[in-house]
Amino acid sequence: MLTTLVTCLSELQDAACAAIAAATALKELEALDAQYLGRKGALAQCMGAMKGLSAADKPALGKVANDAKAVVTAALETRRATLLDAADAQSLAQDALDVTLPGRARVQGGAHPLAQTLREMLDIFQRLGFAIEEGPEIEDEWHNFDALNIPASHPARDVQDTFFINAAPAADPRAGRFILRTHTSPVQARVMQQTTPPLRFVAPGRVYRNERIDASHYTIFHQVEGLYVDRAVSFAQLKGTLLDFAHAYYGPQVKLRFRPGYFPFTEPSAEVDITCSVCSGRGCSVCKQTGWVEILGAGMVHPNVFRAVGYDPDAVTGFAFGMGVERIAMLKYGIDDIRLFYENDLRFLTQFA
Ligand SMILES: [Zn+2]
Repeated sequence: MLTTLVTCLSELQDAACAAIAAATALKELEALDAQYLGRKGALAQCMGAMKGLSAADKPALGKVANDAKAVVTAALETRRATLLDAADAQSLAQDALDVTLPGRARVQGGAHPLAQTLREMLDIFQRLGFAIEEGPEIEDEWHNFDALNIPASHPARDVQDTFFINAAPAADPRAGRFILRTHTSPVQARVMQQTTPPLRFVAPGRVYRNERIDASHYTIFHQVEGLYVDRAVSFAQLKGTLLDFAHAYYGPQVKLRFRPGYFPFTEPSAEVDITCSVCSGRGCSVCKQTGWVEILGAGMVHPNVFRAVGYDPDAVTGFAFGMGVERIAMLKYGIDDIRLFYENDLRFLTQFA
């Protein structure tokens, strides 16, 4: 009887160890654990047979049974540890992060070249003591033309190809029709109407002209308007201000040239050139071999403009200037087609990001 039971335990231990070694999943191991070591497992059944043994044989079988249980338990633990390690290794391999891979480039936006140019220009004028003022893009005829000494009969009014708005005219009969402003100069009139001199500001903004689009013309563009009004503002101060701006924006090597010009709202008026920044004045296609490029118009505020806004032209004088932001940017960066600013082509824009 004892021998049979010992053989049974020995076979049971071998079978259990073989099954445990062959198990490939933790679940399988749990099942084997229950099958061999559980309360109703194979070992327990074998021990149940001990009841029939003599008191002398019981301890001997007990020892064999305990040894078998210890061997199977150890085999289970070893196999469990191995399977857990393997599972860990597998999940590590699956989630592995290769830190040597190159990163994915993130597309980063940047300011539009016109916005950058405008920001730089305004910075310079703010350092020179100019405030910043803005006005509406939908303007009335009085502020856009009449207040600036451009009466209905004035030829300059034809020169400016104007977009008119289909809307009822303004309540004030003097205001005329609504239009998209053709220049930023109406901001001069609006600010002067609301302020007493002295005043000194620049007015940046978008303007509209009904023009044929080509490499140097577009229906939208940007201007920066400047106005300084006080008791004895002089043309020399205008020259000094513009020279300071040109040196700050283009560099100290740049020279300015004033040519007589005509604008209805200034008298005298000047068209202002700088030495070509592309060829440094030696002559190239940008400056048409002259060494000079025009960047702005300027002059002393016309007495009629002061009268229109209620200023006394005998008490104050002032200078005004206006420049195209697109033109300034084109000259600075060597851009030869104004349309590039408005086509949203990333190949162009990312060069300035
Ligand atoms: Zn040139």
